[in-house]
Amino acid sequence: MPQISCSFCGRRKNEVLVLLSGIDAHICNYCIEQGHQVVLDEMRPRKSEPDEVHINLIKPLEMKRHLDQYVIGQDDAKKAIAVAVYNHYKRLMQPKTNDDVTIEKSNILMVGETGTGKTYLARSIAKILEVPFCIADATVITEAGYVGEDVETILTRLLQAADYNVEAAERGIVYIDEIDKIARKSDNPSITRDVSGEGVQQALLKLLEGSVVNVPPQGGRKHPDQRMIALNTENILFICGGAFDGIERHIAKRVNTRPIGFSGDRRLNDTLEKGHLMRYISALDLKSFGLIPELLGRLPVLTHLEPLDREALMRILTEPKNAITKQYNKLFQMEGIKLMWDVSALNYIVDQALQYGLGARGLRSICESIITDAMFEMPSQTNVKELTVSLDYAREKFGKSTAYQLRSVA
Ligand code: ADP
Repeated sequence: MPQISCSFCGRRKNEVLVLLSGIDAHICNYCIEQGHQVVLDEMRPRKSEPDEVHINLIKPLEMKRHLDQYVIGQDDAKKAIAVAVYNHYKRLMQPKTNDDVTIEKSNILMVGETGTGKTYLARSIAKILEVPFCIADATVITEAGYVGEDVETILTRLLQAADYNVEAAERGIVYIDEIDKIARKSDNPSITRDVSGEGVQQALLKLLEGSVVNVPPQGGRKHPDQRMIALNTENILFICGGAFDGIERHIAKRVNTRPIGFSGDRRLNDTLEKGHLMRYISALDLKSFGLIPELLGRLPVLTHLEPLDREALMRILTEPKNAITKQYNKLFQMEGIKLMWDVSALNYIVDQALQYGLGARGLRSICESIITDAMFEMPSQTNVKELTVSLDYAREKFGKSTAYQLRSVA
């Protein structure tokens, strides 16, 4: 009987690793691999025409629904971001016409305590849109000529996230964290040599307002004989975030001293008393906090994130698609172990997170210190098939971890 062979390349069975049989034909591993490569090449987006951009753009309402699967609460911020992002990419896709209407960029500024989801929101939106995304820290940037990083290195990270595809990077999203830390220390604008404050804000302006920037592909300080990549920031969406500790005082001062239309409204006064001042934040407050007006002008969409209360923390722990407890459950499941959480233990975790004031960021470290012992021991205990994290268990394990360790996570 003749030996069977690949119907595509003719190799015989003994010449290949795998030979799959179909109804009337066979295919070998070499041809499968080659075929797979052809499929991947076909699926790769074609190099776009100059005016044509490939972005997975969905409508604001759907965008928010997507975000809801990951980010708990923060409805105001989600709406503001969904609209801003939608408009931003619509602006990119607008056909070139001769009318005089130019849509301006809608860079975003998010204000909210640490661990309330600012970075997470920015990251999630980039994921939904399938565009390159990077995070930069405003505190490491200094004015040119001082010790620290040049502002251009922010874009190095974006280029890296885009695999050095300049075209893709030019439509990416950059999240700049801790923007509040580069506020002008004094309200006196005559202080011009403010290395970590106004100088950096000025440097950032260059990126935000849309210009062609020479980016060192490997980062680091620029030096004369380094090869640079020119990147146009006009269509890069910048999202800035910061906690702006103490901004409430500025808001309170403005709201109390400026007669705003409905200041006599009892509901408003009640809300103010409850400490929900943040939702009244305006660019004026940020200016008195120390951001320069030019920078604020380049961040037209201003939104705030609410502090996470007990209920929100509990939901974060259990609800989102990749909720922390679900992640542990999956890890244990892969060992054939069923992991269960008592509600009282979850409440305990939330209590501890509230005490440490790290927002949702505390949840992960607390869970980690509770569950680490089990993750260390159980894979070797082949006879144990389930674990319930009870209140006592959580207390005991967390009690052993030092509070110092947790604080250092902040
Ligand atoms: P921020 O940037 O505001 O300091 P992050 O976005 O870095 O905070 O939040 C830290 C982590 O906490 C996130 O990676 C996410 O897992 C979780 N988290 C924070 N806020 C939320 C939220 N509203 N919904 C779901 N998870 C959240």
